Amino acid sequence: MDLRENIARVRAGIDAAAIAAGRDPACVTLLAATKTQTSDAIRAAIAAGVTVCGENRVQELTAHLADNAYEGARLHFIGHLQTNKVKYIVGKVELIHSVSSEKLLRAVAAQADKLGIVQDVLLEINLAGEESKSGFPPDEALSAAALCAQMSGVRLRGLMCIPPAASHPGENLPHFQNLSRLAVDIRQKIVDNKMDMDVLSMGMSGDYRDAVAAGSTCIRVGSALFGPRPPVSPRKD
Ligand SMILES: *Cc1c(COP(=O)(O)O)cnc(C)c1O
Repeated sequence: MDLRENIARVRAGIDAAAIAAGRDPACVTLLAATKTQTSDAIRAAIAAGVTVCGENRVQELTAHLADNAYEGARLHFIGHLQTNKVKYIVGKVELIHSVSSEKLLRAVAAQADKLGIVQDVLLEINLAGEESKSGFPPDEALSAAALCAQMSGVRLRGLMCIPPAASHPGENLPHFQNLSRLAVDIRQKIVDNKMDMDVLSMGMSGDYRDAVAAGSTCIRVGSALFGPRPPVSPRKD
């Protein structure tokens, strides 16, 4: 497996999908989902051209930070976050993609206030209404965005989704289009002078072309860069 080749292949796929959709490829960020990777693997990825790392687990992020593994790249948090762990994440990452409930939103804002900073966040939207996944139901997104506007500790940068794994090309396109429309709707209805809602975090290894076609500005790719991961262990954080 050649990391540089994989990055080039995914980047070419993004660029082609963007051009086909009449979009500027430069508007789409390739984020490397680094879960289960070692600090050395992360360093190698950054040396090979990865510019944004997305971490899933608080524990892994904390350990890699202590190792200086992310040096040279930007760091985002993309995984499930419990309210009692926000202190390990707020202020440590440029963007939290996965603010999935009002309780978590309030905890992130409170921690940011405590640190005297403004944390950039995305609202995670559970588009398909999947029981097994977290995220705001689409019809609660607008009120969550309005809440962000009232809180000094967070700046809403956009929306994120994790649709069901796609089994064929095109399958998740309607979900991605729905997230795009939801972002447009929120932008039109909410006035927040600290809001800069320009991020749509959607698309993974199996469906990023469809996500780019629908307007994604950040695709989160793991296995297409690093190869298959070992089976998922039970979620600890
Ligand atoms: C693991 C993960 C990804 C990347 O998944 P791949 O299918 O390996 O590309 C993207 N987003 C989130 C939130 C993830 O947990």
